[in-house]
Amino acid sequence: MLGEFLSTISYHYKEGNVNWPMGIYISLVHILAFIGIPTMFKCSSETLMWAFLCWPISGIGITVGAHRLWSHRSYEASFPVRFFLMLCNSMANQGSLFHWSRDHRVHHKFSETDADPHNATRGFFFAHMGWLFVKKHPDVVKAGREMDFSDLMEDWCVVIQKKLDPWFALYMCYVMPAQVAAHFWGEDFWNAFFVAGALRYCVVLHFTWLVNSAAHLYGDHPYDVQSYPSENPFVSWCAIGEGWHNWHHKYPFDYAASEFGVSSQFNPSKLIIDLMASTGLVWGRKRGTAAWLMGRARRDRDRANGVEVTTLTRPSKKAD
Ligand SMILES: [Zn+2]
Ligand SMILES: [Zn+2]
Repeated sequence: MLGEFLSTISYHYKEGNVNWPMGIYISLVHILAFIGIPTMFKCSSETLMWAFLCWPISGIGITVGAHRLWSHRSYEASFPVRFFLMLCNSMANQGSLFHWSRDHRVHHKFSETDADPHNATRGFFFAHMGWLFVKKHPDVVKAGREMDFSDLMEDWCVVIQKKLDPWFALYMCYVMPAQVAAHFWGEDFWNAFFVAGALRYCVVLHFTWLVNSAAHLYGDHPYDVQSYPSENPFVSWCAIGEGWHNWHHKYPFDYAASEFGVSSQFNPSKLIIDLMASTGLVWGRKRGTAAWLMGRARRDRDRANGVEVTTLTRPSKKAD
C-alpha cells in the first residue's frame, strides 16, 4: 500500500495534480490520531467507553444521515431527526452534508469510470483515500456541475451546516467530545481530545473509506455479477451496516442498503431507522426487495427456458 501511495503521489506531483490543502489536512489527521494511541493508556475507562461510543454516534451521521437520507432519499425524516443527524454528521467531519451527498450521487451514477470520485478500477489505495490527495478528475467536476442537487439546499439542516463548514464540524469532531469528557467525569481535556476526538475520527474515516475500497473490490456479487460493488461482511461491521454494497448499488433507493433483515445481515443503521419509524419520527421507508423478487422470478423463468442468466442467485433467507 505504501508503494502504491508513493507512486500515485509522485505521478500526480509531476503532473501538478496534487491537492495540497487536502493532502496536508489528511496527513495532520493521521499525526493527531497517532498521538491518540499512547494517550489511550492515560485515559479513564469512562473516556475509553465514550471514545468507543463516538464511533456509532458519528457513524450514523454518515450512514443514516448523509448516505441513506440525504444522498439517496430512501426514507423521510422529521425535523428533530434531521437536526440530530446533522449534528452526528458534523462529529464525523467528512465534509458538509451537501458536498458528501453530491460526491456520493456522482459515485453511484458513474461508478468505476473517470467521473467516479473514488473510481475503484484505479486500485485499493486510490479508492480508499488516494482520491483525496489529488485534484478531482475533470469528469468528476463536470458531473458535479451537470447533476441537480437543488433538493439538498431546500433542507435548512443542510444549509446551516454548509454555512458553518468547516469550523462547526471541526469543533464537533475534536473539541466537543473532549469537553464532554472533561465536564462530566473530569478527564484531562487533551487526553480526551486525542482519543475520543482525533483517534476515533481517524478510525471512523478509515471505516467509511473501506466502503469505497474493500466493498468495491472484495466480496460476493449475488445481485449484479457485472459490477464492482460487493457484499462484504467485514466492511458492514466497520461501517455499521454499509458493507452490503452489491445490493446497495443495485437498489440505491433501499433504506436498508441490504436485502435481508438485521437478524441475517449486520445492519445497526437499518435498526435505528426502523426504531425511529416505530415512533413516527421517520416514514416512507423504501425497499428494493419487491423489485429483486420480481427479477428473480423472471430469471428463474429465463433459466427454465435455457436463456443464459448472468446474475447469481443464492438460497433465500427471510426478507423484511
Ligand atoms: Zn459504492
Ligand atoms: Zn450509496
